[in-house]
Amino acid sequence: MVRAKFEELKETKKTIKKQIEELKELDKMKIEFLNITSHELKTPLTQIIAYLDILQNEKQGKLNKNQKESLKIISSNTKRLKSLIWDILDLSGLESKQIKFDMQPIKINEVIEDAIRDVKSLAEEKNITINKNLGNFPLIEGDEERLKQVITNLVNNAIKFTPKRGKIDINVGKKSYRLFITVKDMGIGIKKIYLEKIFDKFYQVDTGDKRKYSGTGLGLTICQGIIKAHGGEIWAESEPKKGSAFNILLYYKRLGKPTEAFTEAFSKRGGGGKN
Ligand code: ADP
Repeated sequence: MVRAKFEELKETKKTIKKQIEELKELDKMKIEFLNITSHELKTPLTQIIAYLDILQNEKQGKLNKNQKESLKIISSNTKRLKSLIWDILDLSGLESKQIKFDMQPIKINEVIEDAIRDVKSLAEEKNITINKNLGNFPLIEGDEERLKQVITNLVNNAIKFTPKRGKIDINVGKKSYRLFITVKDMGIGIKKIYLEKIFDKFYQVDTGDKRKYSGTGLGLTICQGIIKAHGGEIWAESEPKKGSAFNILLYYKRLGKPTEAFTEAFSKRGGGGKN
């Protein structure tokens, strides 16, 4: 009796193991499919954008009002398509670990300033004030472009989900070997039950037919992938109708030894800042 039960359990274990392997294989195929498709879409889209630019800048002749209007619509839809394709490429690159991170000693306040510059006009359109308290902290090891991408994404979201004339606060703080970045808004907020889910692929809280906000639901997944690749953490705190805070934690001392390039640049540039 016991022996039969044991054999049965052994069989179940084998089946589950096989199913896990099959799911892993399917997941791999899905990533490959997304990667190939996005690459194939990227090439023609780059051409479309280039020719659109030629037309919009009237390099092939003057445009009338209707033509300008039509090109504006094509342009805005092409931008959406481009951001979706780039997001899928980033996602598949992160999942397959094909994205290489260019880890350098960086000044986080400069990265954040740079990110804010990129989204400033969006904030101005909605009369949203961005307050910064970025301090002057020692250099941290990270991929400048990728960290800028994360901050841009968070501030973009903050602008998107905050009503006109709202306020966004960006703070940087340091506690021993930990660096904290917080992007806080006074927007629509997120219910507690969704807080974990928003980092899932393609997840959006508002998915009804009358969806108010555009987006792909990939932004936060990519942010999380980038921060995890830095050995850090990202999480959200929020209260509906009051606002949300997105927090990033980066470590000064990653596990293992800092790279030689980091140690050298750190001593040359003086590290700077307070502890
Ligand atoms: P996207 O913004 O493209 O939909 P994200 O992955 O960046 O995708 O965000 C996922 C979802 O998380 C959003 O659709 C939204 O429902 C919620 N969200 C993200 N940031 C905020 C924010 N600052 N305030 C309220 N909701 C947010």
